[in-house]
Amino acid sequence: MHRHRRRNVPGAELGFVRRLRYWRRWQVTARVPSVVDIPVRIGRRRAVFVGSPARDKWLVFDCPCGRGHRVMVNLDPGNRPLWQVSMVLPLTMSPSVDEHSDVGRCHYLVREGRVLWVEKSESR
Ligand SMILES: [Zn+2]
Repeated sequence: MHRHRRRNVPGAELGFVRRLRYWRRWQVTARVPSVVDIPVRIGRRRAVFVGSPARDKWLVFDCPCGRGHRVMVNLDPGNRPLWQVSMVLPLTMSPSVDEHSDVGRCHYLVREGRVLWVEKSESR
């Protein structure tokens, strides 16, 4: 009997060889149970799952624009808009992230641990 229904995401095994191969790419490196447990420092090209392994709620990371704002994308199918993480190492998610924040607009795709910019506005 399955303990939970979550399918295995490719890359989730996080093996040493795989980590070494992709260490420079964007990847999910941790899981915390709730938003209050999100680390202050996540690190460049690193992301954190929030939620239980059976039910991810958020993927949290610092925006790749480097202007110091944090991004949380929703992974909970009960809420919208909804993102999907199809691979954690290197990170692949869809759809694109389109953030409007104090620093401007940050619109990009994350595919195989690489950021593909659609639009990045200048701040102020
Ligand atoms: Zn940004």
